[in-house]
Amino acid sequence: MRLLVVEDETDLLESLAQALREDGYAVDTADNGDDGLFKAKTWEYDAIILDWMLPKLNGIELLRRLRRERKTPVLLLTARDAVSDRVTGLDQGADDFLVKPFNLGELLARVRALIRRSAGNASNIMEFGGIEINLASKTVKDEGQLVELTAREYAMLELLALHAGKLVSRTMIYNHIFDEQDDTLSNLVDVHISHLRKKLGKDLIETRRGQGYILHV
Ligand code: CA
Repeated sequence: MRLLVVEDETDLLESLAQALREDGYAVDTADNGDDGLFKAKTWEYDAIILDWMLPKLNGIELLRRLRRERKTPVLLLTARDAVSDRVTGLDQGADDFLVKPFNLGELLARVRALIRRSAGNASNIMEFGGIEINLASKTVKDEGQLVELTAREYAMLELLALHAGKLVSRTMIYNHIFDEQDDTLSNLVDVHISHLRKKLGKDLIETRRGQGYILHV
């Protein structure tokens, strides 16, 4: 899943991006509102972590403009904890709120919940035949046995699972799995899919030649 973090405090931006990457996300960053809005409108992020107080364009204004075009789930970060601020944020289209300073574990849980809800999933556990995917622990079991996946393999499986039964195009995979720091070769997707098939069985994921992939329900 690919995230955008918009935050002008450099230390916080870097540590957040690092923590999210370690948690398996592809992460783009912006340190001001203009850049953040541009990226948010350009790419299909799975969620955006947006600071309220930003130079050039504040978070609320960014959100207001983004909502004219996109429904991307937004977690708003704020240093202010007044009820009126929460109301303003939610009215402008924020999906969730976190008051600074926050706990990293809570932020990760809220991001997971946003992504899950936007895919129409209430639970952290998804099952396909004997394959169980745990979105919270990012682990996969085959008939109860833990399967070792790389971060990229897991990310790809999670994307296919959240769109189970539907065609996921290669473009979609590129947009959601890789970030602006990645320098990737076009055949990498096939390599990851082939590894997933080896680990989870060849029937789980179908290839539609020239179109993309489907994980069957
Ligand atoms: Ca700020």
